[in-house]
This record gives sequence, C-alpha cells and structure tokens, in this order.
Amino acid sequence: MIDFNVPPYAGKEIEYIQQAIANRKICGDGPFTKKCDKWLEEKTGTYRALLTTSCTQALELAAILADVKPGDEVILPSFTFVSTANAFVLRGARLVFVDIRPDTKNIDENLIEDAITDKTKVVVPVHYAGVGCEMDTILDIAKRHGLTVVEDAAQGVMATYKGRALGSMGDYGCFSFHETKNYSMGEGGAILIKDKAKSEEAEVIREKGTDRSRFLRGQVDKYSWVTMGSSYLPSDMNAAYLYAQLEMAEEINRDRLASWDRYYERLKPLEDKGIVQLPVIPEECEHNAHMFYLVTNSLEERTKLISYLKENDVCAVFHYVPLHSAKAGLKYGTFHGEDRYTTRTGDCLVRMPMYYGLTEAEVEHVCKKITEFYA
Ligand SMILES: *Cc1c(COP(=O)(O)O)cnc(C)c1O
Repeated sequence: MIDFNVPPYAGKEIEYIQQAIANRKICGDGPFTKKCDKWLEEKTGTYRALLTTSCTQALELAAILADVKPGDEVILPSFTFVSTANAFVLRGARLVFVDIRPDTKNIDENLIEDAITDKTKVVVPVHYAGVGCEMDTILDIAKRHGLTVVEDAAQGVMATYKGRALGSMGDYGCFSFHETKNYSMGEGGAILIKDKAKSEEAEVIREKGTDRSRFLRGQVDKYSWVTMGSSYLPSDMNAAYLYAQLEMAEEINRDRLASWDRYYERLKPLEDKGIVQLPVIPEECEHNAHMFYLVTNSLEERTKLISYLKENDVCAVFHYVPLHSAKAGLKYGTFHGEDRYTTRTGDCLVRMPMYYGLTEAEVEHVCKKITEFYA
C-alpha cells in the first residue's frame, strides 16, 4: 500500500532528542526551541517567531493578540480546516465565509471587500496547499479598512509570494508542524509576529500570562502574573525533533517538489483532454509541494476514483467538508455571497500520496492507475 502520508524523518532527530535530554532542559524554551525560533525568523524575515504546541494554538494566540471580542466579525474561506475558524469562535467572533478562487482554491480576494461591515476585525487568508493567496490585494484591503491580517500558513512553510515568505506578510502568521505537514514535531506550530510590542505581549500570553521570558533574559528580577494567558510552548524534546528537519529543509523541499513535478507531468495529458483539473501555481508564487491534488467532475466520480486507487494499493484522500455547511459553521457563521466553488471543490478534490521520501516508482504507479481509471 502506498500511504497517503508518512511523517518526515530527516536523520538526526534521535540524536537531538538525546541532546535535549542530556541538556536537562526538556521543558519549553530550551536550546532547541531557541534554535527553531531563530531559524524561522531568519528564513521568513519576520521580527519574531515563537514555537507553539500546534498551529491551532498559534491561531488562538493570534486571535487574542488581535483583541478579537464577542460580536466582532472575521472573514475567512469556508474551504479550510476547522482550526482556522475555532480560534476566533473561542473569542466570541462571528464568522463570515467567502468563496474561493477556482484556480488556487484560496480565498477569492475580490470578494472580501463586499463582506466587510463596521464589525469586521480580522481577515484570514489560508494559503491552501502552500500556494500563496493574492496578498498584495488582501493587505491593501486590510489597510484601507483597518483590519488585522492573520495568515493561516499551516501548509506554507518554505513557500513564498513575490519572494516574501508565507506567514510573514500579515500582522500574524501561523505555521503547523503536525505530522501531516512538510516539517514536523509530532504536534506543534509557530506564530510569526511583525510588531515588536505585539511580540512582547505574545511572549507573556504564551507563558501563562507571566513575564517569565523577560525574567529568563535577566530583564526583570522576578517573574509574576501580568495579564491573562495560557500555555502555548512545546517541550524542547519536540523542538529537537523539528530542528533536525529544519536543518534539512532545502533537501526535504527539493524532494517533495520532485514528486510534485512528476505527478504534474504524468497527469497533464488528462488535464489537456479536459478530464481532470490539476493545481495552478500563479507566477508570483513559489510553492512547497505540500499537496498534490486533482479535481474530478463530480462527487460520484471522485468516490469511484478513490476506491479504484484503494483496490490498487494507493491511499488517496479528500477534504474539506466546507465549514459553512457543517453543524458548527451553521451556528457560528454565515456564507457571504454565492458559493460557486467551495462546495464543488469539497465534493470533487482528491489528494494523492505526498511525503518526504515518496519514490519515483510510487508516483509512477499512482499516475498509471489514475490514467487507467480514466481510460
Ligand atoms: C493543519 C492545519 C491546521 C492545524 O494545524 P495543527 O498544527 O494540527 O493545529 C490549521 N489550518 C490549516 C489550513 C491546516 O492545514
């Protein structure tokens, strides 16, 4: 069976975890966490990066930093993972879903402005499949309307838009290091913060509302409770696992892109015949091969394709059930405008196996079986 996902393993993870244990510093913000934060800051050109226990919690931290209050409205796509929405629902916000673009499956930037009201506080571009949203337009809208931009860049580590790292363009950017993502620490994430004052606020919220980070740096001589907060910092053992992968990021990225390019080349004839739709990468975006998907013509066709592949030892999967039609989505939000592509994409999109170390022969097998299915 060709798995859909195999968690990345770069080689030095065990050695680094042993070092973390030998350091006698296995709680949060130890040496490996610092190394990961620094790597992320340098790679993305962001003022501050802080590891978190997940992207979900990075988004929650961003919602607190953005001062989202009950009654505020948040604009986001419906074609996304639940965490994008939950972070703001937890603060009492109303969700306003807008449609996605048919090419990238990202939020349609041209539909955002019409969804803005005097209650709108935040807009959340989700960089689907590690392909950047049309950020210049989104940042311009946000600036004109005084909105905070929280980028859900869970899938976007190592990808860029016009040369800028995904996650580094808005006020806050959130990464995921879950085992299904390009770089992993089991469960984990990071928040990127542009503003110096906000990053100091983030350090406090992330450390149970205390000024422990400043205490550890010797800036205050005792630490105490200064504001509301929670615990968003991961163990240094998890950071050690992640650091081994960040050191190998170029190699991991190259390997994934090679698989992605092979899929694309082998399946292009099916797209040329109008049988399936393949991913579109706009010229201004460099993606990270987070995902290889294709879009079928109907839900029925997708179901048959997935079972045909399963019979032939290929695990292909689909997502997302659009949030606006889910039980919680109906309760916490509304879809603004027409749903031209969201439900259709949720019904017809199918993801192929994609992970670091997927072999050429495996990609060839998957493509052969897809081509056979359509023959
Ligand atoms: C994976 C993912 C998340 C959640 O990441 P976790 O680290 O598992 O919390 C959020 N948003 C998107 C778009 C994702 O793909």
